Amino acid sequence: MKIKRLFAHRVELPLREGSYKWSGGKSVTVFDSTIIGVETDTGLIGYGEVCPLGPFYLPAYAEGVRAGLKEIGPHLLGLDPRELSVLNQRMDAALKGHPYVKSGIDIACWDILGQATGLPVCTLMGGRFGRSVRLYRAISQESPDEMAAKVAAYRTEGYTRFQLKVGGDPDTDIERIRAVRAMLKPTDRLVADANTGWTQHEAIRVVRAVRDVDVYIEQPCLTYEECLAVRRHTDHPFVLDENVDGLDMLLRGKADLAMDVVNLKISKLGGLTKTKQVRDLCVSMGIAMTLEDSWGGDITTAAIAHLAHSTPEEFRFTSTDFNSYVTVSTAHGAPQRDNGYMEASAVPGLGIIPKHDVIGRRVVDVT
Ligand code: MG
Repeated sequence: MKIKRLFAHRVELPLREGSYKWSGGKSVTVFDSTIIGVETDTGLIGYGEVCPLGPFYLPAYAEGVRAGLKEIGPHLLGLDPRELSVLNQRMDAALKGHPYVKSGIDIACWDILGQATGLPVCTLMGGRFGRSVRLYRAISQESPDEMAAKVAAYRTEGYTRFQLKVGGDPDTDIERIRAVRAMLKPTDRLVADANTGWTQHEAIRVVRAVRDVDVYIEQPCLTYEECLAVRRHTDHPFVLDENVDGLDMLLRGKADLAMDVVNLKISKLGGLTKTKQVRDLCVSMGIAMTLEDSWGGDITTAAIAHLAHSTPEEFRFTSTDFNSYVTVSTAHGAPQRDNGYMEASAVPGLGIIPKHDVIGRRVVDVT
């Protein structure tokens, strides 16, 4: 089996709530997502998706996914898409860095491997742990009262885990954390995710002010060193996200005991192959994970479900169902939230079929 074509569709994913806001005044109203297709000489086609959280979150931007496919695609023609290590090595040899460019291609090749073997991707990634995957809801940055009201509403839909977008004015953030925690049951989990938005002194002030509150603190500051300093001044459970972009940082964080949980985003790490490597190491080292991506629609949500469902339950902190945040459905067969949980498809591959009337014409075609 050989790759004979790689292509991309561009889709716009408007947000159901109208916008999504997080630290530093950053916001998105319509996500620009790229659906990547890999076609083989046997007729099998696999799909992946890459959707950066705007151009100002990670070193990634939407047009870069398409430009990167044009750059890297010609190097992959003729390769066997089922040989994922060979594929990844070729991608890394052809283009240094830019993991998000490689992510959609790698996901599409896992989809092909599943279709070719008749197995769902989660089976190929280690097997299905438990019946379903527990989800969290990200709460866009608004006033404390508005965020508390949203949490109360999403709670009625079955969510029991919430990630608050803080990283704004520290005094308002303290109010946000307190207002939301007051809405929750003791067994619910709350994460205050600053997305690098606080300076070190502000972060230390916030964690002191909410010392009595049951809340996880996620990525308070921009640099690893600042986060580590905050970590050493608090006894809140601590999550690192933006700084953990590969094995090096994971191992450094483990050696420093810098976090209790890491947030693994498929496109941040460069695809399912590399995320699986980091995931498996986290399991071996006893580190729980949020398993997700930067953003996306149905195909990203399917990939997250396979990654999460193939992770032992005790190490699965949370995942999220991005396809429920947006108004456009791009594929049949994607996981649908059921009372705060989702399941990976049992169909071979990712278990999705793109809606061609929605994804439109190809905007990149490499042959
Ligand atoms: Mg985060």
